Amino acid sequence: MNIGQKLQKIRKSLPEGTRLVAVSKFHPADEIMEAYAEGQRTFGESHEQELRVKVPALPKDIEWHFIGHLQTNKVKYIAPYINMVEAVDSPKLLREINKQAVRCGRVINVLLELHIAEEATKYGFTLDACRDFLETGEWREMANVKICGLMMMASLTDDTSQIRREMETAADFFDEAKARYFADCPEFCERSWGMSDDYEIACQCRSTLVRIGTAIFGPRVY
Ligand SMILES: *Cc1c(COP(=O)(O)O)cnc(C)c1O
Repeated sequence: MNIGQKLQKIRKSLPEGTRLVAVSKFHPADEIMEAYAEGQRTFGESHEQELRVKVPALPKDIEWHFIGHLQTNKVKYIAPYINMVEAVDSPKLLREINKQAVRCGRVINVLLELHIAEEATKYGFTLDACRDFLETGEWREMANVKICGLMMMASLTDDTSQIRREMETAADFFDEAKARYFADCPEFCERSWGMSDDYEIACQCRSTLVRIGTAIFGPRVY
């Protein structure tokens, strides 16, 4: 199957209410255009320098999601065009995104990244740290960022019951956060979990955004 066929097959398999973020990192512009030709408009990238080259070369109606770990000092480069920063993993990063969004006269959509996986290598707020941060209410004063929901990466494991458990923990935490802090914010509605190897589980765990790269574009050559 070619890129377009793989993309269509995945999109058809997603339940209503789950959208695809096509993860194009390390794949060239012409492969992105194959997905674009099938109507795909939301793409995920995780390196600022790669975006710097790709964004000017590709159609303006693409919505770019920054999905990787973002260093504070890189925010200023992506702030003029990024549609969503999916992996906000600290109050400091959120403050910087707000600051740069003010400078650009934009409102930037963000997701808070949760650290639920058992791996020590993953970034994100623990559930307690996320509660503590939301409790401060500081984010309510940040007029140029819109917190649209939560993002997480499950453990890299073959144990599907563990993956499911982690995603269900994230979905339950979403309900808690929605009820406690975002009851009057309709934009707080996104649950971003699921990648090539676990998106089918994610769809059963109420994911609204799946971030899929390899299953569409093939393996990345780093
Ligand atoms: C690379 C990446 C993905 C896509 O991974 P695949 O296994 O290729 O689908 C999803 N989410 C994040 C945060 C990534 O960095």
